[in-house]
Amino acid sequence: LRQALADGGLQLHYQPKVSLRSGRIAGAEALLRWQHPQQGFIPPNQFIPVAEETSLVLELGDWLLNEACRQIRAWQDQGLQPPPIAVNLSARQFTPQLPQQIETLLQTHGLEARQLKLEITESLVVRGPDEVVPIMNQLVAMGLDIALDDFGTGYSSLAYLKRFPIQTLKIDRSFVEGIPGDANDCAIAQAIVTMGQQLRQEIVAEGVETREQMVFLRNLGCDQLQGYLFSKPVPAEAFAAMVRTGQRLSLD
Ligand code: C2E
Ligand code: CA
Ligand code: CA
Repeated sequence: LRQALADGGLQLHYQPKVSLRSGRIAGAEALLRWQHPQQGFIPPNQFIPVAEETSLVLELGDWLLNEACRQIRAWQDQGLQPPPIAVNLSARQFTPQLPQQIETLLQTHGLEARQLKLEITESLVVRGPDEVVPIMNQLVAMGLDIALDDFGTGYSSLAYLKRFPIQTLKIDRSFVEGIPGDANDCAIAQAIVTMGQQLRQEIVAEGVETREQMVFLRNLGCDQLQGYLFSKPVPAEAFAAMVRTGQRLSLD
């Protein structure tokens, strides 16, 4: 992995998020891809947890933040107006130095804070809110948008959610999977949407594969959809082409 970081074996792919009001691309999530010279493609779920045990996760984090900013800049230089791009942060990246690090990156690449979003997971709360909430507040004050990923799958309590300055909630794929057939999954999705709306958060449903799921989630009041129904994660050029041609999800 260290080798891959050094010699370009890592790539970011981009998965569009579409608005459930207009069907238009409203953002994208950057997802890591590792093309190993012998073993071929290695999924992120296999190497990120390993990296998280060592300081490698910090190098990986630095690389991916820089790579996302570089790509946004490159798209702009090609005359494209890319939507905000979300990057996944692991808990260990969430240090008091993070806001300054991102500030420097934005300046280096000449970007505005609203062009970048940060996805965090509930695993952050094991560090305790007194440590992480001030960092989050600083990032939000800079103009960054924070999304809570995999919501409902971890250990966090609603008391934490109240203290987190979060603009977006992502409904985890594990709940979306059972929609509309599984009554429990439908009830959980409904509860997340209701709560998110009360807290004035934007709600993104992840892992949407079928039109039935899309219709159900749209009727619940979800704001955005991400999933194979619209597109898998794709290389940067393919994502740029979708934005350029104004590709849309048909909502009927
Ligand atoms: P995640 O953040 O929950 O990312 C969403 C995962 O769901 C992605 O898998 C995506 O390809 C997949 N997905 C999206 N739509 C669908 C769908 O309709 N059907 C199905 N079956 N799957 C769908 P991926 O890319 O394999 O990433 C897995 C996990 O690896 C991510 O979960 C995230 O936790 C982690 N990860 C990926 N890139 C990064 C990164 O740059 N940094 C960190 N810290 N973690 C990352
Ligand atoms: Ca994510
Ligand atoms: Ca997720």
